[in-house]
Amino acid sequence: MRRVDVLVIGSGPSGLALTSALASNGVAVANLSLDAHARWPQTYGAWEDELSDLDVPTSHRWSRVFVHPKRERALQRAYVLLDNEALQNQLRERAARDGAAWRAARAVEVRATPQGSVVLDAHGRSHHARLVVNASGHVDFDAAAPSTSRLAFQAAYGVVATFDRPPIKPGSVAWMDYRAEHLRPGEFDAAPTFLYAMHLGGDRYFVEETSLAARPALSTDVLRDRLQRRLAWNGTPPAHVEHVERCLFPMNRSPAPPSRVVAFGGAAGLVHPASGFMVAHALRLTRSVAAEITLALQQEARADDVSKRAWRAVWPSDARRAHRLYTFGLEALLRLRGAELAEFFDAFFDLPSDRWRAFLSRTAAPADVAAIMLQVFTRAPNAVRLSLARSALHEPRTLLGAALKR
Ligand SMILES: Cc1cc2nc3c(=O)[nH]c(=O)nc-3n(C[C@H](O)[C@H](O)[C@H](O)COP(=O)(O)OP(=O)(O)OC[C@H]3O[C@@H](n4cnc5c(N)ncnc54)[C@H](O)[C@@H]3O)c2cc1C
Repeated sequence: MRRVDVLVIGSGPSGLALTSALASNGVAVANLSLDAHARWPQTYGAWEDELSDLDVPTSHRWSRVFVHPKRERALQRAYVLLDNEALQNQLRERAARDGAAWRAARAVEVRATPQGSVVLDAHGRSHHARLVVNASGHVDFDAAAPSTSRLAFQAAYGVVATFDRPPIKPGSVAWMDYRAEHLRPGEFDAAPTFLYAMHLGGDRYFVEETSLAARPALSTDVLRDRLQRRLAWNGTPPAHVEHVERCLFPMNRSPAPPSRVVAFGGAAGLVHPASGFMVAHALRLTRSVAAEITLALQQEARADDVSKRAWRAVWPSDARRAHRLYTFGLEALLRLRGAELAEFFDAFFDLPSDRWRAFLSRTAAPADVAAIMLQVFTRAPNAVRLSLARSALHEPRTLLGAALKR
């Protein structure tokens, strides 16, 4: 295979966006993935303002967005669904126009070479590049399986279906509905889950039962059962199920230390540890990462220096510090019982909207992330505060690390 400057592994949103951005910068880039034409199956949602300066096609937009932790609130923030087909076509066409090469195969191994790296694929072919970017999603393809004991997982089970009676307010999004009257006493406290749902037009809705984070992950069986019971309790069972979505990914992967292969997207642990969202962040980050890689390829002779600069663009120092704070926040949430979690989010969405927006969209500097967390703490009821304070005692290293390490 022809040697390229950059080989991007994976054609999910992160890999495809980066391939396209690098090609448009004039970098000789190839994309190696199982099938670059396979349609992304996920239902990708994002806040509209997170995508405002990006050219990202969307399929649905809602200005009526509700949360219901302990009580219902209308959020003054529009929410959108990405138009996967249009976005994939756009990124692929731009990348192809700008000279990116497509290689269809499973990457199985990466080795360092004096000039960069070589990736071996499942057909025994070698792909040489000065820089390899691993955008292969949440499961490492080349590393020995990392210990999963500390990993907390977001898990969800959802369906796109038609309904005879609307399961949520027509024309709206239920972003996080923690009502749990349909569960047996203790069930919710032990393993809290919420409804994430949206009206897709006509009698079609997407409804999903979500476990924000749990260690170990909640099973699909539990989530499916809870969704069915919730809908039955509300008197809104689905009429015809068109599509099922299952979701499982780690929430608290730490940024891997700099190495020859640079991870991006889910592979880099870019998922927001307190919400599970990532796509908008990865799409926003793509430009600066591509720009830094382009410069580094021109300015650096050594492969390790190119990798280091690419890694720093994925994980600038402030982003690493904020990530540690978010991870600390996640550990605190994992210790809360269901009722406390709902109260916590009540306090969170009680904050001035610029505060919770910045927290969810990662636009806050680390000091502001810490200040926002403190604000939620002071507003939360005593039982929740006690639990959060215990977390600070259990996780002093995470907290201190976030405060001190650069
Ligand atoms: C069901 C689901 C719903 C989600 N919904 C949202 C949401 O609404 N909003 C949000 O912000 N985030 C969401 N997420 C979280 C996150 O944004 C997604 O997981 C997102 O798909 C990650 O993008 P990625 O490009 O990093 O990885 P992926 O989308 O997982 O793409 C990985 C790519 O790598 C390829 N690949 C894997 N292994 C190899 C290999 N060995 N060799 C070659 N190619 C390989 C795959 O074929 C694929 O093309 C969701 C996650 C899931 C699982």
